[in-house]
Amino acid sequence: MQRVVVLGGGVGGTLAANLIARKLKKPIANGTASVTVVDLTGRHTYQPGYMYIAMGQEKAERLVRGEKSLLDRNINLVVDDITRIDAAGQGVELASGQRLPYDQLVIATGSRIVPAEIEHFDAEAHHFYTAEASLRLRKALDAFKGGRIVIGIAGIPYKCPPAPLEVAFLVESELRQRGLRDRTEMTFLSPINRAFTIESVSEMATPIFEQKGIHLELLAGIAQIDPERKVAITDAFEEHPYDLLIVVPPHKGAQVVIDSGLAPKSGWLPTDRHTLQVKTVVKPAPGQSDEDIPRYPNIFALGDATDLPLSKAGSTAHFEAPIVAERVAAAVLGRSPSGRHASYTGKVMCFFEVGDGKGTLLQFDYDHPPRPPKPNQLWHLGKIVFNKTYWHTVPKGRV
Ligand SMILES: Cc1cc2nc3c(=O)[nH]c(=O)nc-3n(C[C@H](O)[C@H](O)[C@H](O)COP(=O)(O)OP(=O)(O)OC[C@H]3O[C@@H](n4cnc5c(N)ncnc54)[C@H](O)[C@@H]3O)c2cc1C
Repeated sequence: MQRVVVLGGGVGGTLAANLIARKLKKPIANGTASVTVVDLTGRHTYQPGYMYIAMGQEKAERLVRGEKSLLDRNINLVVDDITRIDAAGQGVELASGQRLPYDQLVIATGSRIVPAEIEHFDAEAHHFYTAEASLRLRKALDAFKGGRIVIGIAGIPYKCPPAPLEVAFLVESELRQRGLRDRTEMTFLSPINRAFTIESVSEMATPIFEQKGIHLELLAGIAQIDPERKVAITDAFEEHPYDLLIVVPPHKGAQVVIDSGLAPKSGWLPTDRHTLQVKTVVKPAPGQSDEDIPRYPNIFALGDATDLPLSKAGSTAHFEAPIVAERVAAAVLGRSPSGRHASYTGKVMCFFEVGDGKGTLLQFDYDHPPRPPKPNQLWHLGKIVFNKTYWHTVPKGRV
């Protein structure tokens, strides 16, 4: 019996499990293989929808479905908290006391926000990284009658790199439509030396900030908040007064991968960029090159959980899942990985809203940076259609 265990029932875990079950249909049917997904809640959330809650265009209840309804019927679902991954003993320990032995392990435990790392964050800053926070931001925007809006980022990496820029552009459009733009000063604080991590995207986005009259401040990651004086303080000790503060909270990988000794304190799993196998060394020794670090032959990671220099995006998980599935299935079937999904190329594809009913598309891989087309209505509509069709396509492996 070959036991495949997938940790996490988000985009990456659900899609990878479905693709693996499809490839292992025969061994599962004759009882020589099994696929099990473990997830904390058993509910699957479409997180990109949070931004649209904040924009008043989406409802939280439409963003959640039962995980079971998205999984192939041959997959077992265990709803439990994963407390330890025992890589040496090939088992996963759960809060209920159950231990799941595995032959092949897929880690797709995503990322988590840690607003508490910045004092006063919860009381002062708005964000759009949970349904509740997005609703609270919506209410704050409804009540806003003009003043200073500061939008910033408290640490890299974070989920969906375009999201804070999209929010800045969408809020600006909304305020213009509501006749409040003349009474509002908008500032966007970028933590790096340009508007966006990827140069070609930065070149596309910078003129949009200018056209929209949003002041763009560089090298200005948000490090502190002073609630009394209502100022956001950057890591360069610059102060930005606000009436409404919107901040992307700090992010980390899952606590369980840190506690299990598989990832450093950041929680991002050291992952091979092509095979998606987890590396056995969290911190390389001085002089140790990446190629010298052995990979676990039977542990794979995908989605937000990895340390790969790519967007933490559902799209990244989407394009990584076929590689994990091919490699896991090959191991179970005793053959070599083959075909176009034998190795990950770094492919990512994300829509990017720029406001006023327009959007663009970021499509890239390790070797080809994005060349975003001029923003138009088509790409905005593309994102809306994608959001609506998500449940029938991505997690089920239909695109
Ligand atoms: C506001 C916002 C906008 C976004 N917009 C886009 C976009 O436009 N395009 C795009 O591609 N991406 C977007 N994303 C990012 C996208 O949602 C994530 O990158 C994606 O969900 C990552 O998938 P994942 O499978 O790695 O992790 P997740 O989908 O987060 O799933 C992780 C799963 O692991 C489970 N888990 C974690 N720890 C444990 C444990 N200890 N025990 C049991 N279960 C555990 C969790 O419960 C969860 O179900 C956006 C995200 C946000 C918040």
